[in-house]
Amino acid sequence: MSLRKYIKNTADKVFSQYIRAKGADRHGYCKCITCGKREHWKDMDAGHYVTRARWGTRFDEDNVFPQCRRCNRFEEGRKPEFTRYLRDRYDSYDPAADGNIVDSLIIRSNRTKTFTLDELKEWVKDWRAEIKKMYIVKSL
Ligand SMILES: [Zn+2]
Repeated sequence: MSLRKYIKNTADKVFSQYIRAKGADRHGYCKCITCGKREHWKDMDAGHYVTRARWGTRFDEDNVFPQCRRCNRFEEGRKPEFTRYLRDRYDSYDPAADGNIVDSLIIRSNRTKTFTLDELKEWVKDWRAEIKKMYIVKSL
């Protein structure tokens, strides 16, 4: 495996852990954002709104949230419920979204030059540090 590929695989794995740990309550449980089911954070997925194939939003925290495996893997991410969740979460207070988080994510997802490998390595370091903190704070 090339170094490039290794770093990207690691980034996918660590970012997913970060999103789920961040979404977990202090008992280590996450609520699926599209169906409301509660599961231990280790049994959840980190679901992308704009597909992971788009590098511009692959590691964008506004695009990725805890989802149960059923919603994420077998129901194509439940887009209508995901859209509703994003609108409820952001439209009222995120000025960057300019009133529409979904449009904002699509614009971000279409950017071509998004980050360097070195930046990605830095992000992985930051996510790992945050996960470590959450392990302590939430006793994960
Ligand atoms: Zn679900």
